[in-house]
Amino acid sequence: MPRMTIDGNEVEADGGMSVLQAVRSKGIKIPTLCYHDALKPIGACKLCGVEVRGRTGKPRVLLSCILRVKEGLKVTTESDLVKTARQSAFRNLLVMAPQSRFIRHLAEEYGVDPGPVADGCVRCRLCIRVCKEIVEAGALKMETRDGVSFVVSEKGRCIGCGTCANICPTGAIQIMDRDGTRTITIRDEIIGVHVLERCHACGRYFATQKFLKHVEMKTTQHTAAKDHPLYCPTCTKLFSNRIKSSTRLKRMG
Ligand code: SF4
Repeated sequence: MPRMTIDGNEVEADGGMSVLQAVRSKGIKIPTLCYHDALKPIGACKLCGVEVRGRTGKPRVLLSCILRVKEGLKVTTESDLVKTARQSAFRNLLVMAPQSRFIRHLAEEYGVDPGPVADGCVRCRLCIRVCKEIVEAGALKMETRDGVSFVVSEKGRCIGCGTCANICPTGAIQIMDRDGTRTITIRDEIIGVHVLERCHACGRYFATQKFLKHVEMKTTQHTAAKDHPLYCPTCTKLFSNRIKSSTRLKRMG
């Protein structure tokens, strides 16, 4: 069996092994994503770099999944060179899969800051502006977390109208209506959870109770708007068309 050095300790390793397998067999951790025991290694993720000293004694980083065990090999699994190579490998992976929780957690485990969470938001602030200027709920704001600005909710102010999600140009804000409840979210954060009201004519859920109250308050002077407060837009339109036609018929008669 070839003898090699791992992190300053001389060990014997099976000659058919890769350095990655030899290192792991000694209980030392090395991150990998593209490696699988049952498949030939290709070194795609580049996370498994280790420092190796060649004949000249100059250190360099080689991929341990591809590197074979051999007599006299000196391997270091943690060094400044390894950390720099690993950091750059994590950066490349996070460019390809910025939303991957697994890669983000793995990067953090190895001391690499994964950067801000990719949330699909381009910080155009349309949602904040429409919620404040048109809806007049003021339920969204910008907040800086670890030096990065995010759209976040003002607790308890959302009325669940859904305007922010409808105006969002990237689909970063989501509306989910299920079992009579509407949930508005951005990233994995909840902006508001609301009880939905059914249309008194067709029976379908169509708006949140909070939103209907909000409209009622804003339209107290507008009697026409208060006549059918619990009809969905489709039924309201249907009824108003019927009223118009019967008035027209009466006039003609
Ligand atoms: S759903 Fe909530 S946050 Fe979005 S516009 Fe309406 S009140 Fe504002």
